[in-house]
Order: sequence, then C-alpha cells, then structure tokens
Amino acid sequence: MISTMLAAVLYGKEHVQMERIPIPALGPGDLLVRIRAALTCGTDLKVFRRGYHARMIVPPARFGHELAGTVVEAGEGVADFAPGDRVVALNSAPCGECYFCERGQENLCDDLLFNNGAYAEFIRIPARIVAKNTLHVPDHVPLEHAALTEPLACAVHGFVDSRPHPGDTVAIIGGGPLGLMILHVAALAGCEVIAIVKHDGQVEAARQLGAAHVVQTTSVRKAIHEARALTPKRQGVDIAIEAVGIPETWQEAVELVRKGGTVNFFGGCAVGTQVTLDTNRIHYSDITLRATFHHTPAICRKALDLIASGRFQAGLFITGHAHLYELNRVFEKLMNRSSEIKTAIVP
Ligand SMILES: [Zn+2]
Ligand SMILES: [Zn+2]
Repeated sequence: MISTMLAAVLYGKEHVQMERIPIPALGPGDLLVRIRAALTCGTDLKVFRRGYHARMIVPPARFGHELAGTVVEAGEGVADFAPGDRVVALNSAPCGECYFCERGQENLCDDLLFNNGAYAEFIRIPARIVAKNTLHVPDHVPLEHAALTEPLACAVHGFVDSRPHPGDTVAIIGGGPLGLMILHVAALAGCEVIAIVKHDGQVEAARQLGAAHVVQTTSVRKAIHEARALTPKRQGVDIAIEAVGIPETWQEAVELVRKGGTVNFFGGCAVGTQVTLDTNRIHYSDITLRATFHHTPAICRKALDLIASGRFQAGLFITGHAHLYELNRVFEKLMNRSSEIKTAIVP
C-alpha cells in the first residue's frame, strides 16, 4: 500500500501549501478515510485570511473540516465501520462527561475535540469522533452532499434554537453559505422567510432556496425599513436570525423583531467587539435574545436525515468543483466575493 498522501498544510495568513506527507497511522478506535469530497466553508475562508482560528486550528496544521469519503482501514476495536463503508465524519466530538455534555449541551463541551485535514487524500478520524460523530451515508446520497452535514447541523441547530412555529415570519440577515442554509431549513419548515442579502448572486440563490422575500441592500436602516414593511402594521418579524457576525447586524436583528419576538445572534463576531442595545425596547417589548453555537451529535444526525430525505436541495449549495491542487486559487476566488456558495474539493 502507498504510504504518503497529498494534503494541504496551513502555515499562516493566506499561506497554504500542498505537500506529500505520511498517511496517518491509526490508534485503537480510529478510522482511516479516503476523502471523496471536502467542501469549502466560510470558517475556512476566515482561517485562510487570518492564518489561524483560536478554537479550531493552530498552524502549521492540516486544513479543511467538511468531508465525506470511504473507510480504508478501521483501527482496533472499531465495530460499527468496515473498509468500503461510505461515511461522513464530523469535524468535532464532545467528551460526553463534562457538566455541559451531561445536560445535553454538547455543543458547549469543555473539551470539544476538533479534527482538521479534509483537504487531503486521506484523513485519520480519531476514536472519539468515530464513536460519536461519524455517520453512515445512505447509498442514494452523493458523498459531496453528505459532506454538508456539518454546516447544515449548525444551521438546523440555530433554527430550532430560535423556537420557530410553522407560519412564522423569519428574517435572516446574511446570504453566505450558512445564512442560505438557515433560510432553506426555515422555508422547508413552513416559515415565511425574508432574506436580507448584499450581493447579486445571493438574491437568486435565496429565491431558489425558498425565501418569500429578498431584501438586497448594504444599508442597515434600509434593511430594517424594507423588512418591517413586509409585516402586518410594520410590526416586525417573529424571528430574526443574524448570520453575518458583525456588531452592526446584531443590532439590526434586534430592530427587526416584533413585540414578543426572538432574536438569534447566530454569527460569531470578532473577539473584543461589543454592541449597544435599547434596554427599554428589549424589556417592554418582551424580546428574547438567544445565540447558538456549533452542533450536538443528535443535531448532526437530524442534518444527515434531512439531506437523505431529498427535501433539502443539497445540490444547490455546491456551486463548483476543483482539484486539491487548485485549493489556493479557489480560496483567492472566494476572497474576491465570487458568487460561489461552496466548492467541492476532490482529491
Ligand atoms: Zn464549516
Ligand atoms: Zn463535554
């Protein structure tokens, strides 16, 4: 058997190199997966720009975290997977033992184990992720669609956490991959979705994915004005989900909701940023403020089920394909705000 593989290694800001490195050795409970598709993601783009991610990846490191593939080898003691199995392995797994895990809030686990290295020919899936967050992909689901499980789990989590009811009007701020996914999930759940986006390419995508209304603007004031005008007596929406991750749009979300409405600060802002909120409005209008981070094993299973159901238009999220060798070029293109949603990197 071959002993080396091609893999993308992140060295720092806008510095990723393709290298031949040894295929990782397996420990007990681990899996070796041959990657069939790895998807680009907003988080990876952020990492490419900044050169690191405080929680997820510290260079030099293998790069990429949304993947699906086939099992090549199973480590000692693995009972649920065998060579040839089609799998999606999530990018993390909780410990199962801490305060948060015991309360079903595994997304907040004190010891979340992250795994990177999806932009490669092979990846080692550590035992904990094999045990908790590696799922069999049904035969009829293309592996590149299954690779959407991780971001979709975040989207489903954010939507469900906003406590929606069918028929609710839901405003989603941001037309990036995750904003579009939440939008699609909300539309499939029977909500009336108002998408607030910036770029031309996002308008068409939002419509195709089920937005009832699309507000295209770069002005926060205009977005609030136009979105409110779409609700009875301009009262505001039932739920506003912020999927951009800047303080200005966090504040916008609060101004979009009606009395008794719910805001979800889904987009994570840069460290050290703050927002100013109108305390009177929040109190006397009885507004619920929530924030959702990451996913839990149960939500990941729901996400894959949704993809497998065929209701979720997975194909619409993968707007390009490229070989591993083209990774740098793909990220440069994504930095220039192309209309791509996700590119499938195929080794
Ligand atoms: Zn991602
Ligand atoms: Zn834990």
